[in-house]
Amino acid sequence: MKKTKRSVNRRNSLKANPRKSPSGTRFAEVAARLAEIGRGFHARGWVLGTSGNFSAVISREPLRLAITSTGLDKGSLAPEQFLEMDGAANVVRGEGRPSAEALLHLAIARGVDAGAVLHTHSVWSTLLSGSHASQGGIALEGYEMLKGLEGVRTHKHREWLPILENSQDMIELGERVSKTLRESLGIHGFLLREHGLYTWGAGLQEAKRHVEILEFLMEVLVRSGAAQSS
Ligand SMILES: [Zn+2]
Repeated sequence: MKKTKRSVNRRNSLKANPRKSPSGTRFAEVAARLAEIGRGFHARGWVLGTSGNFSAVISREPLRLAITSTGLDKGSLAPEQFLEMDGAANVVRGEGRPSAEALLHLAIARGVDAGAVLHTHSVWSTLLSGSHASQGGIALEGYEMLKGLEGVRTHKHREWLPILENSQDMIELGERVSKTLRESLGIHGFLLREHGLYTWGAGLQEAKRHVEILEFLMEVLVRSGAAQSS
């Protein structure tokens, strides 16, 4: 009788004092998934060295993002290397500093209601964003792989990938990103000149798919000579 009572009390107390809050559990799950995606991108050569950064929305009200801490080797990315930041890029959970490009992630999370934002520095995006900078962007058209972009139903779709001049001033660059998202409705990503790709999705799986599709198409363009001919 006594034993039963103790075990009931123990269950109740565990229920009343969960070791992890719901937001903490969601953060841990998202950080694990982001780390796995990041290691995969490193293996593909899209985020070599400490390049690239990844984020996902933990909550909308108030806005909270899980994001890579700065200066990490993406080949050995671990869940503990993610931070939770608020809508002003202040760290609210975890150790370290967010990436310098955290303000761009916030601009995208707000501008297109993205649930996840992924940023890569591939050879292909570096070459194409340099060769096509004077045109302000690259048109991707006629490829079956375009159908991997959310909402695209035919290879005849014309996807415009804007190219923004690179900058180390993230406040200024964040404003240009917000302006581009307002003016180029329906885009799935953009390039920073001789820097890399930003893309996003409603969730992590969609954002990951968009990286794979856009990186594939940029590699096709470079290999077919587009980076030399323009
Ligand atoms: Zn970058």
